[in-house]
Formats: sequence, C-alpha cells, structure tokens
Amino acid sequence: MIRAIKGTRDILPPSSAVWNRVEATAREVFRTFNYHEIRTPIFEETSLFARGVGEDTDIVGKEMYTWEDRDGTSLTLRPEATASVMRAYIEHRLDQIPGVKKLYYIGPMFRRERPQKGRYRQFFQIGAEAIGAESPIIDAEVIELVVEILKRCGLSDFQLILNSVGCSNCRPGFIATLKQELAGVAARMCSDCQRRAVINPLRVLDCKVEADQPIIDALPSIHDHLCEVCTTHFAEVRTHLDNRGIPYWVRPRMVRGLDYYMRTTFEITHGALGAQNSVLGGGRYDGLAEALGSKVPAPGIGFSIGEDRLVMSVGEQTDPVVDVFLAPLGDAAELHAGALAAELRAAGISVERSVDRKLKRALEVANKLGARYALIVGDNEIAAGTYLLKNMASGEQTALSREQLAAHIRNN
Ligand SMILES: [Zn+2]
Ligand SMILES: [Zn+2]
Repeated sequence: MIRAIKGTRDILPPSSAVWNRVEATAREVFRTFNYHEIRTPIFEETSLFARGVGEDTDIVGKEMYTWEDRDGTSLTLRPEATASVMRAYIEHRLDQIPGVKKLYYIGPMFRRERPQKGRYRQFFQIGAEAIGAESPIIDAEVIELVVEILKRCGLSDFQLILNSVGCSNCRPGFIATLKQELAGVAARMCSDCQRRAVINPLRVLDCKVEADQPIIDALPSIHDHLCEVCTTHFAEVRTHLDNRGIPYWVRPRMVRGLDYYMRTTFEITHGALGAQNSVLGGGRYDGLAEALGSKVPAPGIGFSIGEDRLVMSVGEQTDPVVDVFLAPLGDAAELHAGALAAELRAAGISVERSVDRKLKRALEVANKLGARYALIVGDNEIAAGTYLLKNMASGEQTALSREQLAAHIRNN
C-alpha cells in the first residue's frame, strides 16, 4: 500500500473546515489592512534561498529539498516565502509604484526537519510583507495586523515578544563586544555555541541548551549598543503599540542571525504550545533586497504564521455543514429533486441529495452528516407543490410551498 511520505499528511474533513476558517479570517483581516495576495512558485533557483535565507542557517545547510533539474540548474522547494516575495518585488519593479507594497501569502513550505510531534516537512504558512518604508508606523501596523488575525481566530493567551537588533551602523560594534565576551566563556558552552562564537556570535543568543542559559543571560545586551537612529526607531514602534493598547515584552536576547535583519524583530508564543513554541515570527529586513542583488533599496518588514500550529491552537470545531438533505422517492422525484437542489444551492443553501432509494437508510445518512433539515420528495409532494421539511434536531415537520423553502431554511 502506498502511504503519504513521512512528514507530510492529509488534511481531511472536518479538520479542513478549521483550516478554511483560519484562512478566511486571515484574508478578511488582510483586506481591512489593504494587503493583497501574492502567489509565488513553489520552487525557485537554489541560490535565491542560499542568499535570502542565509548559507549558514540550518534551513539552507541541512533542511532544503534541493535537486538538479534536467538542464543542470539547481532548484529548491521553497523553505519559506520572504525571499520569493522579495525576488518578485525586484523582478516586477514594484518599487516604481508609489506607496508601501503590502503583500500576503498562504501556502505550503518545505523543510526536511527531524520528524517530531507537530512538525511537518510540508507545512503551511500565512505571512505578509510590507515593502518600501522604514517608518516605525509600518512596524507597529504589521504587528497590530498579526495580533488581530490571532484574536479573530479565537486565540487569547498569547505573548508578543519584541526587540530591536540594530542596524549596519551599530550592530558590528555589538557583535565585536559579544565576540570578545564569548572568547572567555565559549569553552563552557555547547558545541554549536563554540562554533557560533567564532563564525556568527549573534546566533549564540538563540541557543536552547539549558546549561548555556545562565552564561547567555550574562552576555552584553544589544540595547546598550543601539545607535541613536535605532534607539529612536524602537521607541517609536513601542509608542505606536502602546497607543493601540497592544501589550508586549521586550527581550534583548531575541536576535536574528542574518545580516540583513535590522531593527524590529518580534515573535508570538501561545500558552497551549509552551514557551519554546512560537506561533509566528517576524521582523524588519532592510538589507534583503541588496543581499539578493538589487541596486534599489527595498526596506521591508514581515511575518509568517505557522498555520499548522495556529490550527492546533484554535482547536477542532465542527459546525453542521449540510443545511438540507434531500431524499427523493421514485424516478419522477429524483428528477424533481435535481431541480429543487439547484434552486436551493443558488440561494446559498448547502444541499446533499440521497442516492439511496431506501428512505430509512437515507435518513441515517442525513443524521450522520448532521444535516439541519431533511426534505422528503415523493409523487404526492410534486403533485401538491407542497413539501414537508423535517427539522432533524426537533423532529418537527413544516409544510412549505416551493417558493417558501429557501427563505424558511435560511431564517431558521
Ligand atoms: Zn543602528
Ligand atoms: Zn549553546
């Protein structure tokens, strides 16, 4: 028997309804913030991700699905979408259109991570990018947008963690200080940290190894090294968040290891998933366009929500999906039921029709589906033009004309 590949899964009904609801909610919030959808290809040239995500990251180093195409080009299934969105922005010269470009995406990403609970090799992200402005107002608005999505999905006990990672002026000074400090303590840290202490000291701050935590806590803070511009930018982001009544926690340790990340970074963790598990991460990437070879600067900020985790936090909710179950009795009724179903569907009512001639079995299916109403159509009903609509929950039957059916079902 052929099974789904390890790390992938089928999303079946009724769970798929929760996914649809989460996505519909996100799309609705995006619309009110004037974000528009972008759909980029599932695979791209490998060099896009190597440059855009970073050669030294675990994603590029160990987790990408990469293959050689028949013409020898190295291709990769997208492990994230920001690099692709920026590639599209540059390729289509979106910088020439005035105003901030606000784009969102929903779709699958691919990483060959070690299989563990709640982690998939094909996973889904809902994300957005606002490209074309450095203003802290955009940072605060992006955060407000994502908080709104979570709230409308029904999440309440989440924590917004905020930081600034400086810029190309002030970060090198911080990295130099960090490197100096690490030279004295790295020998007592995990093997990854020993390596990072030399090649990418910022990533030491991300280390999750328990024994390293007290050492990391004692390391210098980026906040003592931010330049004036970065300090002001961060203060303004916070002012705008305060003004919107959005609570946050500043955590100086939350940095991104890549050079093109600048200033604002944020993360949201959710109670049900534990402190280590963030539902989403985001940040400003003012240097990304240049890293991808653009001559035109394109400062931007974005986030991506792990949709698999969001759906898990939202939980299963099964609403009755079928409004009416049609049970025709006999050949004439079967044809009549087809026309009746078309009328009701055109009025926005969901209809399932029985293909079983046995009424008892048909009603069993109606029950199983959780249908709100059953409509039995026989020769008498057709002749009289009156139908008996059965409320499946109460058992109550109402006689209605063909014209009254749709309105009754919608309003009850
Ligand atoms: Zn700075
Ligand atoms: Zn470590």
